[in-house]
Amino acid sequence: MKPSSRVSDVSTSLIRRMFEIVERARKEGKEIINLSIGEPDFKTPPELVERAYEYMKAGYTHYTSNLGLEELRVAIAERYNVEPSEVMVTTGGSEGLLNASLAFIDEGCNVIIPSPNFLSYFTYAKICRARVIQIRTHEDCFEIDPDRLNEVMRKNSFVFLNYPNNPTGVVVDGRVLKEVVEIARDKDSIVLSDEIYDRIHYDRKPRTLAGEENVIVVNGFSKSLAMTGWRIGFVIANENLLNEMLKVHQVNGVCAPAFAQKAVAEFLPESERFLKVMVREFRRRRDFVYSRLKRIFDVVKPEGAFYMFPDVGMDCEHFCERILIEKGVCLTPGRAFGDWNERYVRLSFANSMENLKKALDRIEEYVEESGEE
Ligand code: PLP
Repeated sequence: MKPSSRVSDVSTSLIRRMFEIVERARKEGKEIINLSIGEPDFKTPPELVERAYEYMKAGYTHYTSNLGLEELRVAIAERYNVEPSEVMVTTGGSEGLLNASLAFIDEGCNVIIPSPNFLSYFTYAKICRARVIQIRTHEDCFEIDPDRLNEVMRKNSFVFLNYPNNPTGVVVDGRVLKEVVEIARDKDSIVLSDEIYDRIHYDRKPRTLAGEENVIVVNGFSKSLAMTGWRIGFVIANENLLNEMLKVHQVNGVCAPAFAQKAVAEFLPESERFLKVMVREFRRRRDFVYSRLKRIFDVVKPEGAFYMFPDVGMDCEHFCERILIEKGVCLTPGRAFGDWNERYVRLSFANSMENLKKALDRIEEYVEESGEE
């Protein structure tokens, strides 16, 4: 059977190749420090786990409304200052991204993606058979330049934004985002603002685009409550946009797990304490990793999320392969995040301080040794 043309050129080869190298290195008995991980290394708060268990026993084990449990939608709406009717709960942020893509990206539609960016956006665009237009951000410390957007913006486009950003950790000023939204609005275009890292920030508070007429916000609790396996996400958009996404959601995610929705709704008022501890620790690691990396590479200091994206001055795949085989440190090649990233790698500091110290020593060693060759 031939795969559909939607998926036939979706590539998994880069990730598979890294995975194979990790497997080989592990078989050889090497200790691997994995800094390619895209989730917090914190445990889900035990109070949340307890609640989910209780609600499971109490019968929250069936479908909920497609839109999600009312109490969770109300809690989210309050946080983002929108109406509950503008909130739909999804099975993780990823389902929200696919729903939005299928509902609004037509075949041949222009999908605009600032590079570097979360690799899944490229996949959504491929699945929708869209035309991808990337915007270079490297000269602007990875922040989107509205003028560059203006140059490529055509009617009925779809723009993916993600701040704090994966893979750079960059946060963009609210004024700039507002400009982006206006440029899109003038061209009857939609902005998808993926705000999944919005609660993990250090110096600059990210601004939400919830409530803007032509914006779909995708978010969730995967990262902020360290619960990637629970699959609770949400989208915020005006009711017209939401209704179109509901048509996809009702045959896609259908509803997020009932006990998880109920437990999160109840836990939300207490979640700040957990977040504070996690973000404090991420900040400590960010400061450490940044201070070490900037001695050897050009790197932008991340203001949110838990990634850094240094320019390693050589081909990213060669660098990742050598550092993995020779030093047992696993990083993600920049090429996975769009055009112009072939000299960059992504490092996730969602790992223990002890591992980060060891990894940085080894990276430094490798750079010294390869410079001597
Ligand atoms: N958006 C971005 C930018 C991400 O980095 C991720 C996960 O890595 C997601 C969305 C997906 O989140 P979820 O696990 O809630 O589907």
